[in-house]
Amino acid sequence: MDMYCIMNDIREPDADTALLHVYGDLNDFLPADRRETWFMRACKGHETIKNVVEACGVPHPEIAELRVNGQPVGFDYLVRPGDRIEVLPAPLVATATLALRPPLAERRFVLDTHLGRLAAYLRMLGYDSLYRNDAEDAALARLAGDEQRILLTRDMGLLKRSAVIYGSFVREVIPSHQIVEVARRYNLSPAPTAFQRCMRCNGLTAPVDKAAIEHLLEPKTRLYFDSFRRCTTCGKIYWQGSHYARMLALLARVIQHIQGATI
Ligand SMILES: [Zn+2]
Repeated sequence: MDMYCIMNDIREPDADTALLHVYGDLNDFLPADRRETWFMRACKGHETIKNVVEACGVPHPEIAELRVNGQPVGFDYLVRPGDRIEVLPAPLVATATLALRPPLAERRFVLDTHLGRLAAYLRMLGYDSLYRNDAEDAALARLAGDEQRILLTRDMGLLKRSAVIYGSFVREVIPSHQIVEVARRYNLSPAPTAFQRCMRCNGLTAPVDKAAIEHLLEPKTRLYFDSFRRCTTCGKIYWQGSHYARMLALLARVIQHIQGATI
């Protein structure tokens, strides 16, 4: 931890500037010449640290701790000329000395319109994950805030909306890599409801007698399978066919990657 607090490369701020240093993967949001170094930003006064840091590119939900001149501060701290601001992500903060947001009671998600496949994978793991391919940004942000859900997005503007409390920018592009990234970030392992949540609508599934749904099945499914579950919300029927085997293989890869291998 201490290695991230060394200030030997620090410059003296001018009278009307503040100095910033961004750590860890929050550097993903900065231009190359501002990464892993101190940089100056004009300080007009009466501007919250949340605004100052977001104006530099870092969305507030990604930040785990803010320090000014070595002391932890909240999002509403008003930046003063000469301040030295440090911006830290969760992996570098074992226990934040000043919490920027209340602890999450439950890991539930809401995903933007780019992340449909990731939503399906999270549901497969058993996590309550809302997704609609026609959702509006304002509605997603409001939902994330109102229901205390973690917003997963590829849209920086959406992540910076003030209604959002918990969330992160999904760095990976390929869905099977995205699920590993998110599982690592939020310490996810298969929930008790793994394979019991509808991948299409997020509803919970329940066992159903074959006799009750036989008329809805394709002939080969009716012939080869006897155990079925049905979504209690949308009615979609699940059985342990080839799709299930592919999902099991994906799940095994996710668990393997969470345990330390690279993507
Ligand atoms: Zn469903």
